[in-house]
Amino acid sequence: MTKVFYKLQDALDGMVSKNESIFQNQTNGKRYYVVATNKEYWDTYLNQGDRFGYEVIRSDMPCHLYIDLDINKEEYPSIIVEKVYDVLKKYIYLMFTSVYGIKREDILENIHTSSCGKKGSMHVIYNIRNKIFKSSAHCGAFMQNISDFVMTCSESDKVMFLEHWVDMSVYSRNRLFRMLGCTKWGQKRYLTNGKTYSYEEWSSNKVQPLLSSSYTFMGILRGDGTEPTYSSTNIGITGWKPPCVDIVLKDIEEKVAKAIRTHAHPLQHRFSCNLDTRQCPFQKRMHSKNRIYVNISLSTYSYHFRCHSPKCKGLTSKTYKFSDSTKEYVYNYLNQNICLPAVKYTN
Ligand SMILES: [Zn+2]
Repeated sequence: MTKVFYKLQDALDGMVSKNESIFQNQTNGKRYYVVATNKEYWDTYLNQGDRFGYEVIRSDMPCHLYIDLDINKEEYPSIIVEKVYDVLKKYIYLMFTSVYGIKREDILENIHTSSCGKKGSMHVIYNIRNKIFKSSAHCGAFMQNISDFVMTCSESDKVMFLEHWVDMSVYSRNRLFRMLGCTKWGQKRYLTNGKTYSYEEWSSNKVQPLLSSSYTFMGILRGDGTEPTYSSTNIGITGWKPPCVDIVLKDIEEKVAKAIRTHAHPLQHRFSCNLDTRQCPFQKRMHSKNRIYVNISLSTYSYHFRCHSPKCKGLTSKTYKFSDSTKEYVYNYLNQNICLPAVKYTN
């Protein structure tokens, strides 16, 4: 029987069988959680055309490796998401085969796409024969190792990580991941794999499969040799910012350059924004690829600049204070009752 909950913790507590999963739905716009077996969920929702479903990737359960590629076509009109994936895929296969000894024929890629004029999106879920990742934190560590490798070995390929085309924020606790055949609420961009949509097709494309004893864990460690864990504070949300941050960014645009991407740490009131300039204040010259970014701290009413270039790692500009009028907006924001966006729903 399907069970409906309005809080994630209640849904987690409401699971009684290991054959059940948690989904997030958005029928009629309101979000809620469903605890059900795959078959019950399919029959009750997806097969009835209710297709706004996300899989909750439980942080305490093993999962397949999943990746999320996202390209804003207005910002990067000439970049094709499939081409970016072709580049990334070479490194993923290299890692699987050379570091983990997995044979190419034991790797199955499930590719889901949903592109439109504004966005190129792609999900890839890797099923490795008889192997599974211990948790999504282990997927995050695997992808971080790939990112570290690409950063040191290929000047031309690292752009996919620097510009966050590969979304590295999807490996957080109990992450929501949009499922095959589903679209965001209010849109009709269904994730598709080009095959006929069926129960078997959908359920075999999930990130968290029903566990069987044939699986063994992939022994993923972080670059420093430690066991992967979830970071509790440093996750943040890409793309979200309150209006007062726009005012701060307006000031920065007048002085330096326009912000083109925001990453928020709302609980700390910190925002990191890439700026549309490669003019480096540390090297006093233009970088060929790396941009400058600004770290804004609302609680100290200040910001400073840093640079994405590895040559400028660790360098920080002096701290700039907000103007008095900006400060007033920020003060009002910090002192109102606000609803923080706890989870990113933009997959
Ligand atoms: Zn620099």
